Amino acid sequence: MKHIVVGIFAHPDDEAFGPGGTFALYAKQGTPTYIITATDGVLGGDGVDITEVRHKEAKEAAKILGVSGQYMLGFSDGSISNNRYQDVLSKIVAQLQEILKDDKYTATFITFDRTGITGHLDHIAISMITTYLYQHLKEYLPNIKEAELHYYCLSTEQRPKSDKDYFVYCPCGCPKDQIDITKDVSKVLDIKKQAILAHASQNPDAILQSGDKNLSTEHFIIYSEEF
Ligand SMILES: [Zn+2]
Repeated sequence: MKHIVVGIFAHPDDEAFGPGGTFALYAKQGTPTYIITATDGVLGGDGVDITEVRHKEAKEAAKILGVSGQYMLGFSDGSISNNRYQDVLSKIVAQLQEILKDDKYTATFITFDRTGITGHLDHIAISMITTYLYQHLKEYLPNIKEAELHYYCLSTEQRPKSDKDYFVYCPCGCPKDQIDITKDVSKVLDIKKQAILAHASQNPDAILQSGDKNLSTEHFIIYSEEF
C-alpha cells in the first residue's frame, strides 16, 4: 500500500506559513503529498480582488515544497460557516476520490488544531470538517485502509504575542505536554522559507521575522477518539 500525506487547509498560504517543512520533508523522502485549500484567499487583498495572484502564489509555493498535487476548492474567503460544512466536505471528498481512485493507501491527514491556531473561523471550520471526514473515512474514502490525523499547532513559546488583538478569539498556543510530535525541519528550512516568500502578497516577511529557530520546529497533536 502506498502512503500519502494530505493537507487540508483554509487559505492559500496556510501550509507554507504553517507546516511547510513537514510537507517538504515528506516530499524529499518520496512520499506523495497533496494540499487541498478550501478558499481562494480573496480577502487577503484588502478589498482588491487578488484571487488570481493567490492561485499563482499557492501553485509556486506547492512546487517549491515538492507537493504532488495542489487543489483550490474556490470557496470565498471567510465563508466557511455552518451552512457550508456539507458543501466543503463534499468537494474535499470528490477531490480525494479522484486522487485515490486507482490504489489502496495509508494516509496521514494534516490540518490545523481545533483552535485554528490564530482563532480564524475558517481555520477552526476546516479543522472540524477534516476531523469529521477522518471519523467517517470508511464511508467516504474506502481506498484509505489506515490513517492518522495530525493537528498542526504552535507551542505556547511559538505563539506570537503581537497577534493578541487580531481576532476576537486568540488562542495562546499548545502546552508542551499536549504536543505528540515535534519535527525538526531545519534540513529543509531554506525550502520552507522560499515557499513562505512565494506568498509575496501576504507579508511573508512577518512570518520570517519569527526567526529560524521557531520556523525549524513544527508541532503536531495526534487525533484520538478521546479528543
Ligand atoms: Zn489562513
